[in-house]
Amino acid sequence: MKLTIHRGSEEIGGTCVELQSGGSRVLIDFGLPLVDENREQFDFSRFKGKSKDELILSGVLPRIKGLYEGEQPTVNAVLLSHPHQDHYGLLSFINSRIPVYLSEGCKELIEVSHFFGQTNYEAGNVRPVTVWEPFQEGDFNVTPYLVDHSGFAALAFLIEAEGKRIFYSGDFRAHGRKGILFDNMLRRPPQNVSYLLLEGSMMGREEGDYKSEEDIENKLVDLFRNKERMYFMACSSQNIDRLVSVYRACKRSGRIFVIDPYTALVLHKLKKISAHIPQFDWGENMRIFFVPNSYTDKMAEDKSLFKFKSAKITYDQMQGVRNRLVIKDSYLTKQIFSKKGHLEGTTLIYSMWDGYFPGVKGFWEKNHVSVLHVHCSGHAYIDDLKKFVRAIEPEFIIPIHTFFPEKYPELFGDNVMIVKDGEMVEI
Ligand SMILES: [Zn+2]
Ligand SMILES: [Zn+2]
Repeated sequence: MKLTIHRGSEEIGGTCVELQSGGSRVLIDFGLPLVDENREQFDFSRFKGKSKDELILSGVLPRIKGLYEGEQPTVNAVLLSHPHQDHYGLLSFINSRIPVYLSEGCKELIEVSHFFGQTNYEAGNVRPVTVWEPFQEGDFNVTPYLVDHSGFAALAFLIEAEGKRIFYSGDFRAHGRKGILFDNMLRRPPQNVSYLLLEGSMMGREEGDYKSEEDIENKLVDLFRNKERMYFMACSSQNIDRLVSVYRACKRSGRIFVIDPYTALVLHKLKKISAHIPQFDWGENMRIFFVPNSYTDKMAEDKSLFKFKSAKITYDQMQGVRNRLVIKDSYLTKQIFSKKGHLEGTTLIYSMWDGYFPGVKGFWEKNHVSVLHVHCSGHAYIDDLKKFVRAIEPEFIIPIHTFFPEKYPELFGDNVMIVKDGEMVEI
């Protein structure tokens, strides 16, 4: 069997791995890079309007024969681990005859993102998988594992061919709302794994003050019980674990979580996947402010907005219950509050990766809003990675999704096999 890491052997983002056995080829993930060649933030708009060939020449698209539109497809399928752009962001370029295997939750979120123009990928030729149920694709037998991650319904893959077993960890962690999946994996790890492709996002990063989603929820309850102030909450509308933490904290402290229609739609789409995801019609702890932005307009146009009318809260109504509110931050919501002079005495809870904060810091400072950082990582801590490796006991560990592959040997022992981007290795 042959393994090629097209990208991701020494960076986080843009992940793409290829396996080849006999006449079969599968790709795992096909993500947009997060950094450019200078390790500065990758800016895809620089490449707008460029053709596939130009994108290959500039290194944005990996050179993979039989993958792209306009040539005879020779790649059997793509296995997609989860709905983060650094794993699926380039899929719109692949030949639409090549099927993409993904989780049902992943499909829903990509469809929402496509509807709002956040991705060109339409999730057209997709095959939703059943977790823990093996399927055959060409010479490969694939078993999808559900894992805990900040991306929803994230998968790891066990891939078997030629008597070898490869385990692709995908992005995962042990400290989210589905940490039980990690514990189960330690108790019943996949057996006889020859090669473990292991993510290492946390290498070179600090763990931060809050260790788990549960810590976050408890901290928020402490804050929210003080009824003297209104909170803004900056978090991603697709980080479902975090939205659940905020909702639960609001419920426990008698507050109202005010979301925008876009977030309400995301939650609503996932209702059929899990009954534990908070919904707009769950009662007084959740309300929707119809912020007049382009997303809301789009929902008004296709009439999906109408569904959420029963949970609507107006700006004036919000003023009446100010100090009970936790308002999900969106660009326009904060502008409206600022213009009306209503941000006085408010606190922003910044619940995203700190690397994004400099971009918004100025606004909150100008409006004299105090800021608290309450966040935890979407990725496994080093100690959890070690536990994971000890449980699986792979013959070899191959670093992926990390800026520090060279740290693996000191952490996991001398069975680490470093594979460079673009290098095809026999395994
Ligand atoms: Zn990732
Ligand atoms: Zn991810």
